[in-house]
Amino acid sequence: MQQIDTDSIRKDFPILDSKIYGKELIYFDNAATTQKPLSVIDTISESYKKINANVHRGVHRLSQLSTEGHEAGRERVRKFINADKSREIIFTRGTTESINLVASSFGEAFINEGDNIVITAMEHHANIVPWQLLSMRKKIEIRVVPLTPLGEMNMEAFRTMMDEKTKLVSVAHVSNVLGTVNPVKEIIAEAHSRNIPVLIDGAQGVPHQKIDVQDMDADFYAFSAHKIYGPTGIGVLYGKEKLLDAIPPYQGGGEMIGHVTFQKTTFNELPFKFEAGTPDYIGVIATIAALDYADAVGMDNIRRHEEELMKYTTEKMKAIQGMKIFGEAPGKGGVISFVVEGTHPYDVGMLLDKQGVAVRTGHLCAQPLMDILGVPGVVRISFGMYNTIQECDACISALKKSVDMLRR
Ligand code: PMP
Repeated sequence: MQQIDTDSIRKDFPILDSKIYGKELIYFDNAATTQKPLSVIDTISESYKKINANVHRGVHRLSQLSTEGHEAGRERVRKFINADKSREIIFTRGTTESINLVASSFGEAFINEGDNIVITAMEHHANIVPWQLLSMRKKIEIRVVPLTPLGEMNMEAFRTMMDEKTKLVSVAHVSNVLGTVNPVKEIIAEAHSRNIPVLIDGAQGVPHQKIDVQDMDADFYAFSAHKIYGPTGIGVLYGKEKLLDAIPPYQGGGEMIGHVTFQKTTFNELPFKFEAGTPDYIGVIATIAALDYADAVGMDNIRRHEEELMKYTTEKMKAIQGMKIFGEAPGKGGVISFVVEGTHPYDVGMLLDKQGVAVRTGHLCAQPLMDILGVPGVVRISFGMYNTIQECDACISALKKSVDMLRR
């Protein structure tokens, strides 16, 4: 088993050398966004210096080079998630836009008044609100699968909630609050046995484990590059070719057209049909560097490493009086959401920050889940490949200090 060499990895992430209020930065907000290795930062800078030109449009050499880079990015993503064809990879601005695309285009083609879609109680707002917007247009029902006390999706309830009016199941691969890794293969098989397609929100899935969209048989899979050490503003929607062909474009504009007259427009073929306007091709090219980096470290190694940090930190945190940790699903990922009795999450986060520890506080874009958990917000620690046991120890002592101060 290859162990992660955090010493050498950390040298590739310049921001990790930062001092925050004179203290060494401990970056534990990786579920919000990850830091970028030099290879990604340099690729952005070098691409602007050497090959910048709009893609798919010019006959000139620079345009050819940037187009080749952009399309190489599509192929790299295809390989990373083991899609069948690169035309099944649509570039978007992020997971949020990918889900909105499905809600809008799939919703337009296949979901009608009186139909329902099934989500879970652990969804991020990005996998709730687009369906509510669709519901405002088409009066559809949104069914919410409840959770078990450990924070898992209640599979028994899930089975009973699908019926002949269910047009889509849309579920997080990994919860950004609870760390629960949903059994996506089983979920998809259950839905498919009823002829219902499935969208997986992979925002927290892709960064932490190997993804094989063909093996899980996902119909749609959405994720963001910035959560896997890549640039901001780049997202991916994987969709099965047959489905993408069957749904209308999301936005209109340049590049997504076949032929335009003032009377009528025909649309481009996949994937361009869904990529109106100038894409962030430099971001796509830099995404190649990010995926190469993650692959070189090894997705299995990253998953094991983060799980180890999570388990180690969880055990130490339990010793703090009044500690309540949310999410205890077996096999959970590298996320710890918690509250400490007698303290407010925001105060804890602020005092941790003063000691150099960056964590997330608040509702984590999952307000309905906060309501279920009975808290207005939580503190969240989330790990990345460059975090160390020493950082976990330092975080625990900073946390104890913060709690003591707040209770005094
Ligand atoms: N889904 C989940 C589970 C997430 O954690 C996030 C990011 N916090 C999103 C969707 C949205 O991702 P983005 O902001 O990159 O579009």
